[in-house]
Amino acid sequence: MEKFDTRAVRSGQRRTSESEHNDPIFLTSSFVFDSARQAAARFSHEEEGNVYSRFTNPTVRTFEERLAALEGVEHCIGTSSGMSAVLSTCLALLKSGDHIVAAHDLFGSTVSMFSNVLSKFGIQTTFVSVTDHEAWKTAIRPETRFLFLESPTNPLGEVADISWLANLAHDNDCLLVVDNCLCTPALQLPFEMGADIVIHSATKFIDGQGRCIGGAVLAQDKELRDQVFNFLRTCGPTMSPFNAWVFLNGLETLSLRMHAHCERALELARRLEKHPAVARIYYPGLESHPQHALAKRQQKAFGSVVAFEVHGGREEAWSVIDATRILSITANLGDAKTTITHPASTTHCRITQEQRDLAGIRESLLRVGVGLEDIDDIESDLATGLDALTQVPPVRAVRC
Ligand SMILES: *Cc1c(COP(=O)(O)O)cnc(C)c1O
Repeated sequence: MEKFDTRAVRSGQRRTSESEHNDPIFLTSSFVFDSARQAAARFSHEEEGNVYSRFTNPTVRTFEERLAALEGVEHCIGTSSGMSAVLSTCLALLKSGDHIVAAHDLFGSTVSMFSNVLSKFGIQTTFVSVTDHEAWKTAIRPETRFLFLESPTNPLGEVADISWLANLAHDNDCLLVVDNCLCTPALQLPFEMGADIVIHSATKFIDGQGRCIGGAVLAQDKELRDQVFNFLRTCGPTMSPFNAWVFLNGLETLSLRMHAHCERALELARRLEKHPAVARIYYPGLESHPQHALAKRQQKAFGSVVAFEVHGGREEAWSVIDATRILSITANLGDAKTTITHPASTTHCRITQEQRDLAGIRESLLRVGVGLEDIDDIESDLATGLDALTQVPPVRAVRC
């Protein structure tokens, strides 16, 4: 098999009779048949081929084959969003009475889906700390079907031991589902560590420039793939061919971009670690991070999310955001543009104070999704607010 970067550029392409160099966009809802006999054969699956873009579209297929080649498995299904990838996986493979054990610091909408939506249909979830192996073990019940995680977690960068959790899942007849959105296959290959299903939000780094919403579900097992595919075919949270075209072009530069994001993030973390206004920093690429060795073993680089606490509380954290002139004040990430957010009052505002305390989301915490601007400009944009904090009277500086 070709190397990663070659697969990222070449996999999945099938040129048409027009000899196009880049992949075409097949913006068509349905496809025509040569004869009534062929229509019947396509509908009954006797003959492979395009039928209707809810479940067969050549541009979406090219995206799927390219992403599958990068994750190192046979099967990929494009979906309309990252959330619909999570939903399709759950509704296709679970039934009423089933149980999920999930990391509690998953993407916020995933936590809401598990707690508020799946629970209405009799699927219960137990949330545990991603690094607490004892908690994962004791949470498993006879009816548990999924262990579900993201690694590193967002925003605090905790690293799950994926191989260990894959063994735990398989010893208990469960599937390990990994949302690999923040690392992408350019940094981390969960299937090599025993994952059964990988989920993506293509909206983030696969697009990489903040244009389209999409997602994907990947598996090596054909039966798992067929169940998710049949759900999608019937229920319809399908990826649009236009979005698939943006994403499949995004995959061509994925590894270049990921390494550039990570280089800047590591450098920013190192510089922030030394700033007197920074009380604590969370980045798995720093030697001081408790799971640094594990992150180094599992990942090619450490991701684009840098979180840090300032001395003080909400007011001080907000002042750093409001002093920026370049960074985008938004909760999104995985973009060429660097973003900054205050998790406690945005992404984590709907959970209770107690849940925030448990998750370690303090009022003094800021999250930066490092983009592709020059690192010196990113640093100096943050330094404006941070430098001002170190100049406050000592009575305020010790308030933390
Ligand atoms: C953004 C995100 C999602 C949801 O993806 P959408 O494309 O916005 O639906 C799921 N998981 C993670 C880790 C994300 O960052």
